[in-house]
Amino acid sequence: MTEKRDYYEILGVAKDVSKAELKKAYRKLAIKYHPDKNPDNKGAEEKFKEASEAYEVINDDRKRQIYDQFGHRGLEGAGHTGPSGFEDIFSSFGDIFEDFFGFGSGSSRSNRVRRGSDLRYNMTIDFMEAAFGTEKTISIPKLDICDSCKGSGCQEGTSSETCSHCHGTGQFIQSQGFFKVKTTCPYCKGHGSIIPNPCRKCRGAGRVEITRKVQVKIPAGVDVGSKLRLTGEGEASPSPEGTPGDLYVVINVNPHKFFQRDNRDIICAIDISFIQAAIGDEITIPTLVGEEKFKIPKGTQYGDVFRLRGEGIASLRTGQRGDQIIKVIIKTPTKLNQKQINLLKEFDRLDSNKISNKLKNLFKNL
Ligand SMILES: [Zn+2]
Ligand SMILES: [Zn+2]
Repeated sequence: MTEKRDYYEILGVAKDVSKAELKKAYRKLAIKYHPDKNPDNKGAEEKFKEASEAYEVINDDRKRQIYDQFGHRGLEGAGHTGPSGFEDIFSSFGDIFEDFFGFGSGSSRSNRVRRGSDLRYNMTIDFMEAAFGTEKTISIPKLDICDSCKGSGCQEGTSSETCSHCHGTGQFIQSQGFFKVKTTCPYCKGHGSIIPNPCRKCRGAGRVEITRKVQVKIPAGVDVGSKLRLTGEGEASPSPEGTPGDLYVVINVNPHKFFQRDNRDIICAIDISFIQAAIGDEITIPTLVGEEKFKIPKGTQYGDVFRLRGEGIASLRTGQRGDQIIKVIIKTPTKLNQKQINLLKEFDRLDSNKISNKLKNLFKNL
């Protein structure tokens, strides 16, 4: 065995190097000599190991002190034999490798307590139900906590055991040549524990497929695309200590044969005769709650719009109601008897504001 090189020399740092500078120097070397970058390069692999060993010692205050005082020999006496395998290297430098490669040696147990999935339910309701709110019972097929084992997945009287392959971490270190990859433990599927006697009902899953009836209160004012969230009505978490997901009810509204909707306003079209438009009339108009008398003013023109204030749909947020908008459609009669025709001709003769007269005058002045 050749003489061991000086750790500071290996890392290219001064004896009084700070921790931050040390880390920087090691990073540089680790990247340069990383086996991924140097496939089948024994020399690079050796340099990588060497740098890793040096870093592990210098970065450890106690080991650094011993090394500074006694050199390599001192560390042998202190029980330091260098990293025994690559796993050790990786566990020692977890923080650095996390930065480099997106994983760390630190435990990621927290991601084992997962939230259940959110569910979506599309619900179509009628126009009037959207306007005034309603209550519906829906059936949701979903995964729920197994009532037999209360989600533990274990047969009654038994319990789960810590996974011996990953020692309960839920992660598994796989060798790919020199390089180590952390993956979900294939034996416990990342749970960190295994179930020796699975619950018969859920076969150890802890969750079973059920169809749950859910009462949904739909507030007045919902519209197409409105989303209602029912907290905790989604799927149960895969882990017993996790929280369930939410249920989202997405609303679709059937069109109404008379009313159209524009946010809080409702729009309706009313046919009137040209006589009603000319001399005015009182008519009955359907509203959301029944009907209402409405006065058409004389001289109403084609396309005129009237508003019934506060007769629209309530706002989801404020509860304030919009308006009912009345669009007037003036109908021209298509079936006239001779007497009606004669009367209209008489009317025409008396009409000094006739458009044809106006046009004649217009041309005269040109
Ligand atoms: Zn069960
Ligand atoms: Zn495991």
